[in-house]
Amino acid sequence: MNETILVTGGCGFIGSNFVLDWFGTTQTPLINLDKLTYAANPLTLAPLQSKPGYSFVHGDICDREQVTRLLYDKQPRAILHFAAESHVDRSIVGPEDFIQTNINGTFTLLEATRSYLKTMSAAEHARFRFLHVSTDEVYGTLRPEDPAFREDTAYAPNSPYAASKAASDHLVRAYVHTYKVPAIITNCSNNYGPYQFPEKLIPLMIESALAGKPLPVYGDGQQVRDWLYVNDHCAALRLVLEKGAPGETYNVGGSNERANLTIVRTICALLDELSPQGAPHARLISFVQDRAGHDRRYAINAEKIKRELGWQPSVSVEQGLRKTVEWYLANREWVRGVTSGDYLKWLETNYATRGAVCA
Ligand code: NAD
Repeated sequence: MNETILVTGGCGFIGSNFVLDWFGTTQTPLINLDKLTYAANPLTLAPLQSKPGYSFVHGDICDREQVTRLLYDKQPRAILHFAAESHVDRSIVGPEDFIQTNINGTFTLLEATRSYLKTMSAAEHARFRFLHVSTDEVYGTLRPEDPAFREDTAYAPNSPYAASKAASDHLVRAYVHTYKVPAIITNCSNNYGPYQFPEKLIPLMIESALAGKPLPVYGDGQQVRDWLYVNDHCAALRLVLEKGAPGETYNVGGSNERANLTIVRTICALLDELSPQGAPHARLISFVQDRAGHDRRYAINAEKIKRELGWQPSVSVEQGLRKTVEWYLANREWVRGVTSGDYLKWLETNYATRGAVCA
């Protein structure tokens, strides 16, 4: 076993921010295993392609043989498991991919890990970590008067996405208990920041407003989420990887509860200031039929990770939203890349062969 870590889903939103942050602070080798679904954007990590220590593997976490081979060949000391189908609306329209990747994929990864662990010495086993990156949506919905989710809050997932993540969390827990896999689960609130695919609320609103299109707000817009700037999540994950205790769960959240409508209005005000053409952008807000089974409120109690590991979010939601709007305004090429055929062409040219590896 060596110092290398294996990241799954590193070409997605949080994964790619994690990989960029990783090489911003260390030279420790990192392998990124990603299937390159529609949600992946390898362009984000293109600058790392010649970076010593970074390697990309095109593959599927559901492919037991490939995953097992990768673990045996590369001998990582940890797996950070981001890969998932992550968009709630898509899970309502077509849940199957969510069951396949989130449940079967996690199961496959756990089975391959169980087998890999048998090759290790006791000291290596004690040092190895499987970090399962999960969501607060597994806990279901809260009423305004309810306390925030704690690590011991009962699971009550309401969407196919949340149910598939809950199932994967339970599998991880069972592998800790039954097979002594040194795994840790993190359940994090809504992330936002640079490199997020423009189907999610914040980039969708920024991009629609810039295009002068309606800003579709579900229902009355009073659904409350706890927002966390993505780099604060990445910092939490690095800390959990180094200091977290196997078998533990850590809730991660920014204590930034805001209604969706408040978020959209804040984005409009920021755009009025930073990109005044088309102001006032709030005139574009348009209420649309609510999402089926839409959870009303999520809130995270992050006291455990603060107390035990010393983690703190570094930016407020207002600061983070400003940074995010500034980033989308300054990175029009990236947005064009993911919203135009160029991105698909690039994928075809660079990753036409399944199993291709670029170091
Ligand atoms: P994302 O949808 O942006 O990226 C997912 C990545 O996983 C993509 O690069 C995709 O190609 C890859 N992938 C999908 N299926 C795969 C498969 N079968 N094999 C290999 N790779 C595959 O997701 P995200 O928003 O970055 O979320 C990452 C993780 O964090 C997910 O597990 C998600 O449940 C969790 N999470 C997300 C949020 C959030 O607000 N986005 C909050 C809490 C937890």
